[in-house]
Amino acid sequence: MRIVVLAGGIGGARFLRGLRQAVPDAEITVIGNTGDDIHLFGLKVCPDLDTVMYTLGGGINEEQGWGRADETFHLKEELAAYGVGPEWFGLGDRDFATHIVRTQMLGAGYPLSAVTEALCDRWKPGVRLIPMSDDRVETHVAVELDGERKAIHFQEYWVRLRASVEAHAVVPVGAEQAKPAPGVLEAIASADVVIFPPSNPVVSVGTILAVPGIREAIAEAGVPVVGLSPIVGDAPVRGMADKVLAAVGVESTAAAVAEHYGSGLLDGWLVDTVDAGAVDRVESAGIRCRAIPLLMTDLAAATQMAREALTLAEEVRGV
Ligand code: GDP
Ligand code: CA
Repeated sequence: MRIVVLAGGIGGARFLRGLRQAVPDAEITVIGNTGDDIHLFGLKVCPDLDTVMYTLGGGINEEQGWGRADETFHLKEELAAYGVGPEWFGLGDRDFATHIVRTQMLGAGYPLSAVTEALCDRWKPGVRLIPMSDDRVETHVAVELDGERKAIHFQEYWVRLRASVEAHAVVPVGAEQAKPAPGVLEAIASADVVIFPPSNPVVSVGTILAVPGIREAIAEAGVPVVGLSPIVGDAPVRGMADKVLAAVGVESTAAAVAEHYGSGLLDGWLVDTVDAGAVDRVESAGIRCRAIPLLMTDLAAATQMAREALTLAEEVRGV
């Protein structure tokens, strides 16, 4: 079985770990979000690709959900001693090595997709991880700061400001000109099922879908497309997804997120059991819906969610 998953960081990565466990023989292609990428200290940092790579490769800081396990921060302290920031982005010593290798390879002319493949040679995530595009796409958030409206980098909004101010708009800068990375459209065209994990619908899955050709390829693939809600009980399970949903005019409910993707894209949607009341609304929008436990408390829970997603995919196949 060939499965394509559009993934952001933590929600995508934890789901993928369950999916790999649920179907060990499946060929899983992960299309990773690169809208979060940022240049820091002259280095190219790809937070979502790294979260997927470290989580599946056994190098993740489990409690945090991002960054490396057993991390130290000597380099960051030394940079700060020179007054060199930003200090709000926590890059650890082990993590730095990844960004150095990546930046070096990009500088030598390799596209990000080839660099990601090379990094995965070490981590052996057990999936094929492809960035959504080799072209630069950077998510910016329009906010009002000190009485002035401006667009700031997504990481500045999310990490420095902790999404504490209202997001007026979310713009994947460069997306319109970006091309899907080599292998992305091919993987979608030959997939048996496409899954939207419980990743952020706006700044993770939404950004991937903003690369021209990807949404169309999924809609036209003629295979089941199923998603899992990142919203449980009218709030994101982790993080501040409600802030960016509001920016695109979508309420933070499992049903509203399904409608946002729409029946033109989604065939099936899983909501948590606490949102069982939303099933009818999703189904009347033309999307098959089931309520099951959606909290990835451990690997077994994530594995069960992956199984349910595949079961739902079989139910909607050919409907
Ligand atoms: P990010 O790039 O690290 O923010 O990660 P993603 O975009 O992949 O996922 C973020 C989303 O995952 C958030 O909106 C969370 O609500 C959701 N999420 C995190 N843990 C869980 C969980 O256990 N269950 C569900 N249903 N959603 C989760
Ligand atoms: Ca992210």
